[in-house]
Amino acid sequence: MKNTKIVFLKQNNYYKQELEKKIRHIFKKTELFNELKEKKVHSILLKPNLLGIYSPELAVDTHPIFVETVAMILKKNGYIVGVGDSSASFYKMERLFTESGYAPIFEKKYAVMENFELEPFTEITLENQKIKKIMIAGALKKYDYVISLPKLKTHNISLITCALKNYYGIIPGIRKTQYHHIFHRFKDFNRFLIDLYAKIRPDFYLVDGILGMDGDGPAGGNPRHLDLMIGGRDGLKIDGYLLKMMGVNAEKLDYFQYAEKKGLYSSVGRNDLDIPFDFDFMFKDFKLPIASRLSMFTNILPKFMFGFLRVKPIIDKKKCILCQACIKKCPEKAMKLTGKMVKIDYNKCIACGCCKEVCPVDAIHIKGNIPMKVLSIGRNIYEKIRSKKGK
Ligand code: SF4
Ligand code: SF4
Repeated sequence: MKNTKIVFLKQNNYYKQELEKKIRHIFKKTELFNELKEKKVHSILLKPNLLGIYSPELAVDTHPIFVETVAMILKKNGYIVGVGDSSASFYKMERLFTESGYAPIFEKKYAVMENFELEPFTEITLENQKIKKIMIAGALKKYDYVISLPKLKTHNISLITCALKNYYGIIPGIRKTQYHHIFHRFKDFNRFLIDLYAKIRPDFYLVDGILGMDGDGPAGGNPRHLDLMIGGRDGLKIDGYLLKMMGVNAEKLDYFQYAEKKGLYSSVGRNDLDIPFDFDFMFKDFKLPIASRLSMFTNILPKFMFGFLRVKPIIDKKKCILCQACIKKCPEKAMKLTGKMVKIDYNKCIACGCCKEVCPVDAIHIKGNIPMKVLSIGRNIYEKIRSKKGK
């Protein structure tokens, strides 16, 4: 029988030797190598979160040393290893891998690079109200087993980007953006992620929560030492428990309820967890993304009324280098270059944050209006009270 425990370990740095020891410890506790042996696995695909070209200190991408250490351990144990992703950015994947610090993984031959944006893709069918068929990376077919290596961060649409959201990266390139257009309501987009999870998901998760992010993730939030590594096989339980640590009751979120109805999620009990004796059950003063507080309204209001209680992407003209990556990425075609400025048509904008994700110089900020700020302050007070009570 598969070991279903979710193992939490404290870890506060990316020193290779220490990391190797801790990762091996998680693999041992979760009996990963026994499973690989039983299933006669020869090849393993690692799926990090590689959102764009960011320095590791910004906590946007899964830390390169973290990925390298996992690849090295697996390689030493005789497995063929691949590292693959399809990014949200417009850089070629080879450049992304190289400039985000992943080059040594391939130079040392711990793993081969898998570009999820290269054809042929694989078509899969989904049980979703709007989309029945989607394309995913063809590279997945080449491997016997998949380990997801998510970064623990906030997300403007899903509140958290970790186990569930990291696998959105198996959808090649620009298609990801098109789905934001189709599912412009946060609720529908999150349900789409659940439908994808129902169809295809990794075999194992190892979360890089050492340097994580709070605030306005998934890019441009606040890097935060969360000092955690998490290993396990149930992605939704991992995310559900991490949300709890962020001060959010996952069971009250629509997409978790949707997953529960589909038999994919049940709440996390103490018996599901393997935790250190000095475990902190809550992240202190954790800041959620401001856009996520809009979701209750965008889920019920028609699109043309989003402006009433919207958060807005704002461009810092001093920082903007006019690269136009945001214009190409915007699923609503709400951005255009006018003279020497990028302008946003807020009547079209759905506050998805895709432009912010791809901006190479962090020139886009998400700003709330007065009602949103009031909501935000209220939420912060509520979170502080909850945090003090240790709930
Ligand atoms: S302007 Fe930015 S936030 Fe608005 S729809 Fe376009 S990409 Fe999304
Ligand atoms: S806001 Fe960022 S992504 Fe958009 S044009 Fe300026 S620098 Fe490029």
